[in-house]
Amino acid sequence: MIRHINLKNTNGEVYCCLRNKVVSLNEEQMSRFCRGCPMFAGTAEGKGVECVWEDVRDVSNPLVVHDPVREFISNQHRKVAARDSSAFLQHHVTKKTSSKAVCL
Ligand code: SF4
Repeated sequence: MIRHINLKNTNGEVYCCLRNKVVSLNEEQMSRFCRGCPMFAGTAEGKGVECVWEDVRDVSNPLVVHDPVREFISNQHRKVAARDSSAFLQHHVTKKTSSKAVCL
């Protein structure tokens, strides 16, 4: 499991794995999505949001994300690559058979 420390950019935005989009990290996002999200792991000391999920990319742990748009694009590549590999099957099996948080 990788801890993604998503720091807000200058527009107050972060990449949200659950919604697979760049979102404004405001009270609505926090109350409607983050507080009930199994991936939620903290607020990065008020600077963003921490999300823990299995990440098939070769990334550091924790992964500090400064640019949510770049992170969004990187995650779309991950999704395409994963579809063409056995990791995709393993990923789905893991999701169905455990309570681990995954971001597909
Ligand atoms: S905690 Fe969940 S809902 Fe909130 S930004 Fe992370 S992935 Fe999205």
